[in-house]
Amino acid sequence: MLPRSVWDELRASAGEAMVTVRGWDWSLLQNRAPVKPTVSEVTSPCPTKRDSYLRRVLGARPSSPLLEKGKMVHEAFMSPFRGEEREFKEELLKKVHEEAKLRKAIADEEGIPYKVESKLPGSVIGLSTIVKPDFLVGFMPVELVYGWNGNVERKKLALAAYALVIEAWTGLPIDAGVVINVNDQGIKYVLVRIGDYYRRKFLEERDYLASILSRKEDPGRAESCPNYCPFAEVCKQ
Ligand code: SF4
Repeated sequence: MLPRSVWDELRASAGEAMVTVRGWDWSLLQNRAPVKPTVSEVTSPCPTKRDSYLRRVLGARPSSPLLEKGKMVHEAFMSPFRGEEREFKEELLKKVHEEAKLRKAIADEEGIPYKVESKLPGSVIGLSTIVKPDFLVGFMPVELVYGWNGNVERKKLALAAYALVIEAWTGLPIDAGVVINVNDQGIKYVLVRIGDYYRRKFLEERDYLASILSRKEDPGRAESCPNYCPFAEVCKQ
């Protein structure tokens, strides 16, 4: 379901990632705080993670046009893989949907094994009971995101989380993943080598967030916030 160029790049860069943090390293991976965050909470764009505090502790449920657009882009791409018949009117969504149909047809024809939104056991690395990457191609995690560079960076952290979970679950090393990045300029497939940097960063953020949520402690507003944060209005109050 991925373009040939991604597989070529994957082969060409095999063995490049230096990895010492693996999903089977229990002493490193356990999070002893009682609250277990989700992957999307840990990888949210909020620098202080006040968004999770507002949602979990104060019950805020905001929305934003960007969030809604992201959900529609997900629907447009995921629906063919879920076997759903859908129609989209907006130009970008139509394009995304056609691309997904093409990718699915190629994957089916070539017998490439993929799964949509597999339920994986997140608790093995101190996360919520279940975590769900958008796709697994074989055991390689693939995440879809609408937006620009900041969102792609967040998804790289999410890929590191899924790699750790899959390693803990299967005992197999997972050294790469893919971000499918959709924005108004088109659709890009970004191969990500999941080395120690993203793995350690993810674990640090997980522990920081788990500690805030366990103590129900307000981490305060960030000094600089992404202008698309859906919590912006709630956060000012
Ligand atoms: S407005 Fe800033 S501090 Fe508040 S939730 Fe959003 S990113 Fe976080």
